Amino acid sequence: MKKKISRYLRLVSQRYGTDELYFFLFGITVCILLLNLALDSFFIPVIAIALFTYTVYRALSLDFKRRKKENEGYLRIVGKIKAPVLRQINTYKLKDTYTISKCKKCSAVIYAPKENKVTRVTCSRCGTENTVRAKKK
Ligand SMILES: [Zn+2]
Repeated sequence: MKKKISRYLRLVSQRYGTDELYFFLFGITVCILLLNLALDSFFIPVIAIALFTYTVYRALSLDFKRRKKENEGYLRIVGKIKAPVLRQINTYKLKDTYTISKCKKCSAVIYAPKENKVTRVTCSRCGTENTVRAKKK
């Protein structure tokens, strides 16, 4: 038994394993199955089984290069979706203490503390010096 376990662990440790895409696909599979509780379709479990098979196949794969590339593609797409959302959240958090303005040259977002009436802010993107007047709360 101990021998079997150590053989299994050695076999699994040589596999690709889990990554962000794995957890995403697993989550989608669970969501599809939950959706099927309401819809009670024949085809939805087939899709879920196919997706789960692919998810497990990726985790047990020996082709690390290809799996890594797939995961990077997934992370790139997520990053493109996440970045504007995080920017909005950040802007919302800072709006009480900072006046948010745009660079006059490149339109990059710049922040000036509200405690100052006028602040000179150098744009981090293009280096242009901007004058920002504090907006009243
Ligand atoms: Zn600029």
